[in-house]
Amino acid sequence: MTVTIDSTDPRSAKALALLARAHTWTHGTRKSDGLSFAIVPGSTPGTTYMVSELGCTCPDANRRGVRCKHQVAYRLWTIQQNAAGSQPAAPADDLGLCTDAELAETMLQIKAKHLVRDAELAERAAYKARLRAELGLVEEAA
Ligand SMILES: [Zn+2]
Repeated sequence: MTVTIDSTDPRSAKALALLARAHTWTHGTRKSDGLSFAIVPGSTPGTTYMVSELGCTCPDANRRGVRCKHQVAYRLWTIQQNAAGSQPAAPADDLGLCTDAELAETMLQIKAKHLVRDAELAERAAYKARLRAELGLVEEAA
């Protein structure tokens, strides 16, 4: 698979941003056919996608039939791993060989984890906004 990074293509920029967070992906190998894959968090809260050399489960890949940012990021990651002289980084989480049922279960667990994280981030952002508003009031009163 040839992968092209185009500075005018927003998908390329998003793929590079995803690649920068590759250490958070969960990797595995599907037991039924030996397919290596990664479970990648989606940009929409609570979404996770399974991406491999064969494709991706995201709407961009499935509805629009394009090579999505996940596939580009995954391809770049595999190039990075195979680069001569490079020390392959141990993935943060590796499922090893897993059945389709184990994969589905893991994706649900990751989705739940991301929902909790997204809720915490939203809570923190709301708290900061409240704090800023309060500080703003204090400054006005002084
Ligand atoms: Zn995708």
